[in-house]
This record gives sequence, structure tokens and C-alpha cells, in this order.
Amino acid sequence: MVRVRFAPSPTGNLHIGNTRTALLNYLLARREAGSFILRIEDTDIERSEAVYEDSIKEDLKWLSLEWDEGPYRQSDRLDIYRSHAQSLLDKHLAYKCFCSKEQLDKEREEAVRRGRPPRYSGACRHLTEEKVVDLESDGTPFVIRFKSLERRISFRDEIRGEMTFPPDHVDDFIIIKTDGTPSYNFAAVIDDLLMDITHVIRGSDHLSNTPKQIMLFVAMGREAPVYAHHSLLIGADRKPLSKRHGATRVAEFRGMGILPEALLNYLAIIGRKVDKEVQDRPELLDSFSLRRLSASDSVFDLEKLLWLNKEYLRKMDAGCLLDRLELPSDFRERVALLRENAATLNEIRSHLKIFDEVAVEEDALAYLAAIHCAQNTISRLKQIFDRDGKDFDEIFNSFKTESPFPRKEQMMLLRIAITGRKSGPPLKEVYRLIPKHIILSRIEWLAKNLYDSSSA
Ligand code: GLU
Repeated sequence: MVRVRFAPSPTGNLHIGNTRTALLNYLLARREAGSFILRIEDTDIERSEAVYEDSIKEDLKWLSLEWDEGPYRQSDRLDIYRSHAQSLLDKHLAYKCFCSKEQLDKEREEAVRRGRPPRYSGACRHLTEEKVVDLESDGTPFVIRFKSLERRISFRDEIRGEMTFPPDHVDDFIIIKTDGTPSYNFAAVIDDLLMDITHVIRGSDHLSNTPKQIMLFVAMGREAPVYAHHSLLIGADRKPLSKRHGATRVAEFRGMGILPEALLNYLAIIGRKVDKEVQDRPELLDSFSLRRLSASDSVFDLEKLLWLNKEYLRKMDAGCLLDRLELPSDFRERVALLRENAATLNEIRSHLKIFDEVAVEEDALAYLAAIHCAQNTISRLKQIFDRDGKDFDEIFNSFKTESPFPRKEQMMLLRIAITGRKSGPPLKEVYRLIPKHIILSRIEWLAKNLYDSSSA
């Protein structure tokens, strides 16, 4: 039975890179009728915060990435890690290291000077038992290090194929820190082992940890899980995705009015060849395979996400869309019109102002102010509306014969007068839905403000 885990560290909000990791794990679990486990890796006490744990859970719920077990919290499991470290000590597979920070820094500098990778020398591996007892009773701080196995580590990565690391890739790494908390590698392995994790799917930034983790499994006489290290998301400049590239956190996409299903759809097809880009959950599950994922980093393309979001907005059930917008059912007709060319929920929300906010948008006002005789035209328009304000075609025809502009400008003028904006849904249809008194007030508003802005 497949058991996978998503193991975020609560040191920040959920970003899309991590969300993709969660999603790939989730898809494998659901496809194989397995379990998806949530594990909070909060042993870095200084950087972990409960608010981040809450916000990660909230974001996962918003995305409907429901977990079957957990959340397990590593800070609740410190005794478990300590007792496993003790049993490694008892079996002489680990040892206490009393080297001071200064000593270690010196070793590191020396290694760098010689152009060698910084590795712990293993000095404390050979301390006698008496010496260890002495140092401990003197209260000298210590860490527990794992005796690295001096051998090559090979494994088959589900995404990258055969991977091999030379014997000197891993030094005697720390498993328990001076404050008694476990290192990431140790806690992760103990948990993967005790939680019977069958597949570890995570970003390629963790690849260099994997030989360490496999060595721990070997030392404990257990089989390591299957590993799959997926590519990372990068910006168009091919640099790691960061704030500089714009929105990266799930909450930001939610704030923009992106639908969770569109975000998941995009994250599921990124870095993969697909026949069809819009795929609902059953289709995503059906087409999912770790082996189909590309091992090279993928550019995150916001335009593509917006395009997908637009597709989802268009095909979403009308009632469901009203729910997402938190609007009552009498908004149905307006929303049905606006969804046609909106890319986000926010665009729909913003366009809804057409129906009840009189003021004209800044750029639309500037457009009118730049047109010769706009003031007169607006007064003329007011008369036309007063006269034959019912039918759009009538208004348009009168306007056409009575005003001197080319057709494109006439349409723009009418659009601004009717909706207060330079763009939006088909004018004839939107006109039908806007209360007539709003249009009249808007034209009056324009007559006044256009005068003010042109005389200013
Ligand atoms: N806490 C680690 C992270 O957030 C998890 C890595 C892993 O999946 O093993 O990157």
C-alpha cells in the first residue's frame, strides 16, 4: 500500500513550489488508493512558527488536498528521535562529538583553502569511553554524529533514473544537535521509517540529502523508500522562483482570484508533456505518473495559469461560481455575462461595479478628456438617452448620426458613458443589465467631471 507524506517546515507560508510537491504526493496516493500524510517538520525552533503551520493547513484545505493522517508534528516526537539516536549509540553506529564551533570552523577553512569539500574529520570517532564520560561530566556540550558508511550509495530515482554518490559525499553528519533536537535528516528518516512511507517525493534541492538518509536506513537494517526528486520551478530568467518574480505564495494567488482547481491543474501539468491542458481531478489522476515528469527545471508562467483560470471560470457551474464570489442568486445574469472574458474572480468582482458605481475610471476619464469636443458629445448623449433610452440600437443609431467620430471612437465613447470603463463585456448585453438610472447618473457625473478635468 502506497504511503506518502508532505512534510513542510512551518517557517513561512505555503508557496507554489511546495504546493507542487504536496500535489504530486497527493496524486500518487489517490491514484494508488494509498494514504497521504501531513507531517510538520518544526524542529528548527528558532524559525518555526505556529501561525505558519495554521496557514499551510488552511492553504491545503483551500486547495482540497485533504490529508488522511496527521498532522504529525516533529516537536511532539523529540523523545522518539532521542531514543533512536541512543540505540544507534549503543550499537556503535553513532558517537558523541565534543568538537567546539571554533575547531569545526578551523577545519572547514582549512578544507576550503585546500580546495576540498568541507567535511567533518571524524576526530571524535576515536575517543575512548573514559574520555567521553569525562567530557560529559564536565558539561562539555556535544552533538551525536552518525558514523557514515564508507561506500558508494546508488539508488533509482523515479524521475531521474539511476543516481550514484561517491563514498566521500557523506561525512559523519549530525543526527542530534547540542540542544537535544534532531537534525532534519535524522528526524525525516525516523519518521519515514516509523510511518511506513513507501515513496518520498520532494524537490531536487533535497537530492544531496538522500545518500545520508539511505545510509541511516541501511544502518537500521531497513529498506529505504522509493525516492523521486522533482524539478524546481524557476522564473522566466531561469533563476529560482522568488518574490522578484511576482506572486509565489498560495495566499497571493487566492487573493488574485485564481481558482484552486486552476492552480492545481497548472501545477500538475507543469514539466510534463500533455495532450490536453485543461484536466479535472479525475483526468489528472488518470494521466499521472512520476516517470512522465521532466527532470529539468520548469518555468512558471503566470500567463498560462491565468489562461487556465479563465477556462475554469467559463465552464464552472453558475451556482458554484456565485458561491465562490459570495454573491446571492440575483447576481446570476450579471455574473454570467462578466465571466465570459474575465481571467480571475477579482476581475469579475471589479467589473460588477459597472452595475452600481457611478464614477468613471481614471483612465477612461483621461481618454475622454483627450478627445476633441467630448464635453459636447456627452451632453448630446444625455439628450439621446433621455429621448430613446430603452433600446441600445436606437441609441447607437442616433448617436452615430449626431456625433462626428469614427465608429471605433463612437463605440468607446458609448462604452465609457454606459459602463464607466474602457473595456468589458459586449456593450449591447451589458447595457441591458445596467439599471437605467445608473447610466443617467454616470452621464451626468461625466458631464460634470469632464468639464472639471478639461478646465483644470
Ligand atoms: N521539511 C523539508 C522541506 O520542507 C521536507 C523535505 C522532505 O520532504 O524530506 O523541505
